[in-house]
Amino acid sequence: MKIHEYQAKALMRQYGVPTPHGVPCFSVDEAVAAAQQLPGPVWVVKAQIHAGGRGKGGGVKLARSIDEVRSLAGSVLGMQLRTHQTGPEGQTVRRLLIEDGADIRQELYVGLVVDRATQKVCLMASSEGGMDIEEVAAHSPQKIHKVFVEPATGLTEAEAEAVARAIGVPEGSIMQARAVLQALYRAFWETDASLVEINPLIVTGAGDIVALDAKMTFDANALFRHPEITALRDLDEEDPAEIEASRFDLSYISLDGNIGCLVNGAGLAMATMDTIKLYGGEPANFLDVGGGATTEKVTEAFKIMLKNPKVKGILVNIFGGIMRCDTIATGVVAAAKEVHLHVPLVVRMKGTNEDLGKRILADSGLPIIAADTMADAAEKIVAAVRGQ
Ligand code: GDP
Ligand code: MN
Repeated sequence: MKIHEYQAKALMRQYGVPTPHGVPCFSVDEAVAAAQQLPGPVWVVKAQIHAGGRGKGGGVKLARSIDEVRSLAGSVLGMQLRTHQTGPEGQTVRRLLIEDGADIRQELYVGLVVDRATQKVCLMASSEGGMDIEEVAAHSPQKIHKVFVEPATGLTEAEAEAVARAIGVPEGSIMQARAVLQALYRAFWETDASLVEINPLIVTGAGDIVALDAKMTFDANALFRHPEITALRDLDEEDPAEIEASRFDLSYISLDGNIGCLVNGAGLAMATMDTIKLYGGEPANFLDVGGGATTEKVTEAFKIMLKNPKVKGILVNIFGGIMRCDTIATGVVAAAKEVHLHVPLVVRMKGTNEDLGKRILADSGLPIIAADTMADAAEKIVAAVRGQ
């Protein structure tokens, strides 16, 4: 689960990470009132969306007067902000962060992620802050310093200090940087984060270490331990189809293609998408209906897939293990009738009560295309979608 920059900064402050003074705002009037509370003479108007690259996209602006705050807030609020992370359609700006302008001497980069290979938290830091860290990783990987933190000890003073020196923190600011790095590690650990990123972490003219930007993402499987973090969820930033699917306990991810997929089991769903691509098609979604799919769940899954205007065909691929094929077939028939299915539907089912399931589909009177193997199913749906 993602949260906004202002929310991440508030969390980080609780752990002792310094940030600029700032106020989240939902309207131009609130933005002006916020700027009046801050000392100036420079303010920063920052679009709050769940995507990075806002600066380049025109979502981070410096203002030198209250009037300028008013006009910038007016133009940023409500804009459709496009960055390399939002996709071409962009994201509507509904919230702003009005902050004190900072006096930047140096821009650094700090990130924390879970490293699967070592099963540890990896701290990454670089002197090259403020720019695309992916570029730095690609062209000058030696400028990214990594520490794989031992879970039993946490990030030690010695490790944090060595990283601070490696990324060029000036001597007088080393102790502050050390404390900030340790605080960030604690914040990551205690909130069950999956990502913490500060780009840029700055050294100010006065030598203070300050988080100028902040990003935090949390492990959804651990959110039950953190109701205060769950409360920060902003549904406006999430895909409506994915929100709808989560209400019915369906694992659904929107994709760019035109073939809807309904599958039971995440592994089979991945393999189904691969097979569609192998035959030259593009999946419109990932959808795992899970082991306990009922007629109601299958119907909801069909509705969600068909709300996507790009969907030109649906492939159902079911392995009947605990889930019986006749149950799924009954669900598919009921769903197809209820939603007045208007696109080709290919169904492939294998396993328990397979013959019964196939008979239910054949007797339904619906124009369902039956397939035997996964390859056969993928080939048939790709051909059906092309033929439209
Ligand atoms: P992002 O583009 O979404 O990562 O947004 P950031 O919060 O990182 O802001 C983008 C850039 O705006 C930063 O890298 C800074 O160079 C600049 N910026 C942000 N806040 C200030 C500030 O207070 N003063 C100045 N001079 N620049 C700022
Ligand atoms: Mn940034």
